[in-house]
Amino acid sequence: MHSISAIQQNKLISCKVYRCCGCGRATDAKDARYIYKKSCICRACFAGIRSVEGSKRFFGDYYKDYTYSPFYYDGVFRHIFLSFKFNGNLAFGHLLGMATGESLSDINELHCYDAIVPIPLSRERLNERGYNQSLIIAEYISRAIDVPVIELLKRTVNTPAQSISVGTSRTRNLIGAFKAASDTASKRVILFDDIHTTGSTLNAGMVALKNAGAADVCYVTAAYVYSD
Ligand SMILES: [Zn+2]
Repeated sequence: MHSISAIQQNKLISCKVYRCCGCGRATDAKDARYIYKKSCICRACFAGIRSVEGSKRFFGDYYKDYTYSPFYYDGVFRHIFLSFKFNGNLAFGHLLGMATGESLSDINELHCYDAIVPIPLSRERLNERGYNQSLIIAEYISRAIDVPVIELLKRTVNTPAQSISVGTSRTRNLIGAFKAASDTASKRVILFDDIHTTGSTLNAGMVALKNAGAADVCYVTAAYVYSD
């Protein structure tokens, strides 16, 4: 039996390639910005994701609070996200989770919260998709800012699939769509949703958390839909 030499081993490691979820190119480790199993986001694609600087003020219909979104929902981000959410490419979600967690890690205010609460899916949607895309990304944020994920919210009604629509009717429809657990009381909560579109889902989640006695709620999303 001949054992593999260190030189051969190094050669094998350096030959390892990862498929970029943005451009589809075979990429080696040095050109990959984030790696998850056999997938990566290459440095060129990552450079093409637009970052949001600092915090953006969110104006909801019911409350006015701060929200943090590290990225804009367009271009490469949107391409990767849609494949994750609707085509079952779970690895892509882990890569977006890594990018989101790292981008939020230096926001000091976020480190002081007691819980990250991902927006839940309805039981029907969870069975259909097999995973909650917001929970996967929230777990990476949790590690990055050292705040636990606690699933304090439940959906009380099955709402239609999130689409990029604007309008107050959706906002009103969603109030009452969530119920928060009793141990929400006195907690400082980061409410997390995948994409910030109209803010109506976040608003509904926040109403439920505040009704259950949350001391403070801030919003975090992975990406923000920009409109003029
Ligand atoms: Zn790429």
